[in-house]
Amino acid sequence: MALMVGVSGVRGLVGETLTPQLVLEFAQAFGTLLGGGRVELARDTRPSGAMYAAAVEAGLLSTGCTVTRLDVAMTPTVGHAIVTGGYDGGVSITASHNPPPWNGLKFLDRRGLAPDPVFAAEIARIREQRAFRTIKSGFRPVAADADAGSRHAAAVLKAVEADLKPIRGVRVVLDSVNGAGCLVSPSFLHELGCEVIHINGEPSGDFAHPPEPLAENLTQLCDAVRKHGAAVGFAQDPDADRLAIVDETGRYIGEEYTLALCGMFVLSRRPGAVAVNLSTSRLIDAIAERHGTQVVRTAVGEANVARGIVEAGAVLGGEGNGGVIDPRICLVRDSLSAMSLVLQLMADTGRSIGQLVAELPRYVMIKQKFECPRERIAAAAAAVACEFAGLRPNTSDGTRVDFPEGWVHLRASNTEPIVRIMAEAESDAAAAQLVDRVRTAAGL
Ligand code: MG
Repeated sequence: MALMVGVSGVRGLVGETLTPQLVLEFAQAFGTLLGGGRVELARDTRPSGAMYAAAVEAGLLSTGCTVTRLDVAMTPTVGHAIVTGGYDGGVSITASHNPPPWNGLKFLDRRGLAPDPVFAAEIARIREQRAFRTIKSGFRPVAADADAGSRHAAAVLKAVEADLKPIRGVRVVLDSVNGAGCLVSPSFLHELGCEVIHINGEPSGDFAHPPEPLAENLTQLCDAVRKHGAAVGFAQDPDADRLAIVDETGRYIGEEYTLALCGMFVLSRRPGAVAVNLSTSRLIDAIAERHGTQVVRTAVGEANVARGIVEAGAVLGGEGNGGVIDPRICLVRDSLSAMSLVLQLMADTGRSIGQLVAELPRYVMIKQKFECPRERIAAAAAAVACEFAGLRPNTSDGTRVDFPEGWVHLRASNTEPIVRIMAEAESDAAAAQLVDRVRTAAGL
């Protein structure tokens, strides 16, 4: 598990599995696939990022690509810059929410989309076969783009639809975990009219707490919200695509609510389809129902959700891990879009985060994993689909069954011989019961 190669890119341990040589090869493969196009290159603040950036740059240049360096930038900034600048692709050097020993690469295609499985498999094949494009002359100069983050922020500001007067001067605590969100986010919130208290705001890559924006890692943010009497606390992960929220009482509300709150705002303005993955909470269905719109469920993975947005012409998309995609800005999960939409909801409704959350149904989600040989997982998923055929299960990624009282999603892990079962219902006991029913049907 120390090296993960998947659809969304590569992650490994710095100085161990993720060697500069490996990174170079992946960059050569990506550059080969692009046929020597124009590529944006960014990194989060991890101290090893500059080393990997040099390797990626060498790999891209060797295949005839033109490289534009963004240096430290958020992953959504890369997505925005690709589309607005007409680039052929982008690379973000980040291990996202993984702990400090990790780093990795995320690839984006010319639409600013994470690669689909075919594109990802092509990168892997070219690397394995060493079928690299190589140029002997015609090397392109390396360009720099220091303003991509500001342009991304300006685009999100320009997309504001609500009158923000009601929240002018509202106090916000922002925890950027010393990651890529440090650079643009405070001035962005200031532009939205907020008074910003920025914690862990040095872009040093020295993460002040484990960087995944989960409750147990955000006690400092919760305390700061209470201490400063703030209206809201926002937490970004190191590449600032995910956003977690703390309410005005200093309570972590859970990442599922990030998308739900954004959905409340967007659908009140522009009712339309919402695309989410199969493991995302029913909260979004409840909101869509209020507005008479539809939720499109996709396979798990940011790329699948992004494609779902495009295919459905959705007004919003995302995942239950605090990843919100506003397709007007880019097709990458974007913490700036999420912060803007939540603040606009507060301005529009005059309600606090705690009040807004209280308006939504309460669900409990449980996640369990079981060891299961990979070859048995498909049979297990099929058995579940057969057992509950009357409930018209979704089988696009494992099996998801929607019961009247909740839902269960059984799917294979991408990286381990493990089957994951997630269930959501109105209580722990009800969710556990759903897991048991599906487990029995699966023969696990
Ligand atoms: Mg991330």
